[in-house]
Amino acid sequence: MSIIDRYSAHLPATYSNSPQGRFVSLLLVRKVESEAIFRTEGSGEPLNREFVFAGRQHREGQPPIPRIVISKRKQTAVERRTGRELLRRYNLLKGKNDRVCTLNTNTPCEWCVDCMLYGYAAGGGGSQRSRVITDDAFSLHSAETITGQRQFNALFDSSTMYDRDTGKRSTSINTDEYIRPESLFIDIETLKDVTPDELRYTLGNLFRSARYGAISSRIGKIENILAGVVFSDCELFSNLELTQTVFDVLGDGKDLDFPLHPSQAERAVREATTGLLRDLPGRFVALSEEEVNDLRREIVALYSDESALESMLRQMTASYGPRA
Ligand SMILES: [Zn+2]
Repeated sequence: MSIIDRYSAHLPATYSNSPQGRFVSLLLVRKVESEAIFRTEGSGEPLNREFVFAGRQHREGQPPIPRIVISKRKQTAVERRTGRELLRRYNLLKGKNDRVCTLNTNTPCEWCVDCMLYGYAAGGGGSQRSRVITDDAFSLHSAETITGQRQFNALFDSSTMYDRDTGKRSTSINTDEYIRPESLFIDIETLKDVTPDELRYTLGNLFRSARYGAISSRIGKIENILAGVVFSDCELFSNLELTQTVFDVLGDGKDLDFPLHPSQAERAVREATTGLLRDLPGRFVALSEEEVNDLRREIVALYSDESALESMLRQMTASYGPRA
């Protein structure tokens, strides 16, 4: 029996627009695999960072550390696009007023899988709250550890910064701050009142999204590693709490080794989650490590089976029906 079917009692069977307070939390380790920049490319701004305490067991008087932040919008925007490519391939982005459903314009179709799951706000007043809830993600390590400066300069023909004829130094130097490969971000993606198929679709988008950061850029490859899944009747802890607890699990208050193997971070996420769940004022069921791995295999199998995937997407779209 598939993992999602085994836990389907924790999910609504069909979409309904009345909230039911059923949550699935996907605990993620986002691993940076090539230089990444999370801000408008070439804007010259530094990367987003926040000063926060390193761990939850932070001693008074110890200074906070700067952590790099990936804004929540940067994350879902990429995953939505990944899913929409698929919907477009099967002609499942619907149209309204002769215009096909488009992101960030006034023409959401109001009944494709993307509109219904990730939300929309139409000019005419219709709207759907996103049922995929994300928050800013924090780097596990301090900003100093995981960032570098890359100098972009215009070299002369001699491949030097000096013009041999005039002896003048090139003035076209720009530095860009980037996030180092192997940097890890700890993140929770919370799905609210999603059906089993909507869960499959969201997981597919997560596993298939690889390029984050500046849109025009070919840098910023990220692997999303699913470290845990929790079904619950309320939201879990915050990204920051989880990141700080993972930091405590891994270190003894000092900054961590870099790079850190992602499997160490995954294990720490599971251990931190077990600890934090003890304080959760609600009911929950957490998947075991083995079940999480089975779930991943299940999604990979679904996405490699074109007809199964297409029929799932068609059924989901039909279940929403055209909005009145
Ligand atoms: Zn749509």
